[in-house]
Amino acid sequence: MSSYKVVRGARVLNACMQAPAGVGDSNLAVKLRGAPHADVLIEGDTIREVGRPGLAAPADATVIDGRDRLLIPGLINAHTHSHANIPRGFGDRWTLELALNANAAIRGQPSVDQKYLAAQLGAAEMIRKGCTACYDLVYEFPQPSVEGLDALGQAYSDAGMRAVVAPLMSTQSFYASIPGLLQVLPDHIQAEFSRPRTSTDDASLAITRKALRDWRFDRGQVRLAIAPHSPLQVSDAFWLGSHRLAVEFGVGVHTHLGESKVQAVGGMERYGKTLTTHMADLGVLGPNFTAAHGTWLDGDDMKRLAHAGASVAHNPASNMRYGNGMAAVRRMLDCGLNVGLGTDSRSCSDNLNMFEAMRLASYTSRVQTPDYSQWLSAHEALAMATSGSAKVLGFGDDLGVIAAGYKADIVFLDLKNLNYIPLNSAIIQVVNAEDATGVDSVMIAGRMVLDRGRLTTIDVDRLVARAEAAMERVWEVNGKTLELALRLEDVIGTFCVGLAQSPYHVHRYCDGAS
Ligand SMILES: [Zn+2]
Repeated sequence: MSSYKVVRGARVLNACMQAPAGVGDSNLAVKLRGAPHADVLIEGDTIREVGRPGLAAPADATVIDGRDRLLIPGLINAHTHSHANIPRGFGDRWTLELALNANAAIRGQPSVDQKYLAAQLGAAEMIRKGCTACYDLVYEFPQPSVEGLDALGQAYSDAGMRAVVAPLMSTQSFYASIPGLLQVLPDHIQAEFSRPRTSTDDASLAITRKALRDWRFDRGQVRLAIAPHSPLQVSDAFWLGSHRLAVEFGVGVHTHLGESKVQAVGGMERYGKTLTTHMADLGVLGPNFTAAHGTWLDGDDMKRLAHAGASVAHNPASNMRYGNGMAAVRRMLDCGLNVGLGTDSRSCSDNLNMFEAMRLASYTSRVQTPDYSQWLSAHEALAMATSGSAKVLGFGDDLGVIAAGYKADIVFLDLKNLNYIPLNSAIIQVVNAEDATGVDSVMIAGRMVLDRGRLTTIDVDRLVARAEAAMERVWEVNGKTLELALRLEDVIGTFCVGLAQSPYHVHRYCDGAS
């Protein structure tokens, strides 16, 4: 069979910072509509040419009918957590800190099979919603396991989806990470969580090293990275160990940085400086470094991250769900920071819909200032979800654009879907109107993994039954732990709200700090 495919008759939309050049620019309606008709020639997993309709193709190339379809680059989820794909729908009014309190209880102790299941469930949702790659920060307790990471590699590999899988690790519990919190909790909690965990920490890095060394999957599709949980939950020694390991293996480091005001104040209390300054002083910032959220960064923090060539993974849905505020993305971009876009986990945002993430990124930029010149444009939102996120994942040269030389990761949107009736502006309707119901087909590496609404690599019916059973098991095994966590909510909630309102002076950029 020929390794060539040619998509004919479709419109093609890439993110671009200038006004898109339509076919026949003298016609204003055509110009505004954007997304000119173009044919796309694909060889194997790579786009060879994008050209005018009627593009020459080898005689034996498989022809894909692109009529009434709008092609956009596969959306890339820069921040998610597969371990939270099953325990969703908890905590109506949880803050980040209340969610972290209940994390162990709702997560349970999944088997290796259940880790695979959770990743496939996320992959099914992401693919169906036009996402072709993700950065999955996955937590295993008490430490990562080679088998667990391998199961995730297998899950994404079987789904035909690209992923960066990063073991999410902490060296102290959430309770011990917020200055002063442990001391207000019951004695048995204090006794359990104040013990040092050095042996586990060393083991975590050793396991990660083994997983990196023995990784058996195609790194062009599924690769590993390292995810120290957050500056407050990870010791300096562990940060340095993670950094060394990342440099040795040439992989990414991804952490939660300045996600909530409680964290920002906690950082000032513990280190007497911002968490970002602390990271910079440790020497762990660099082009492979991704800061998730960055809601509570001041202007100097952003400059430090930009100077290091680091990225931010912007998660507008979870920032709002947890009441953490809105990240000053315009300022980040002005500083020269690369910004990718993420959904965060299914338990905190509450889905894996990158179209929704784009719209929320766009809208949250608008409510921060009446100066519309500072708002994110639709092209900027699409750029964050494609090329920005591709850079976060370390796939910057291969993904995020429909152009010759890039990998053939392409979403086919149905222009007959009501989201496009009538079609006035492809870019505005993709970013602001599309809710993923218009996703018709998804190609990853030249292969249709969603073909006219049908997932070709994942048996969803089987997944559904297994996911329900897995959650039942969490309830059975962890019901009592959840009860205990819920009993702590008032004291943790009251303490954290108090901390967030303490006299410590923390700035966000939008508070006027420079
Ligand atoms: Zn996260």
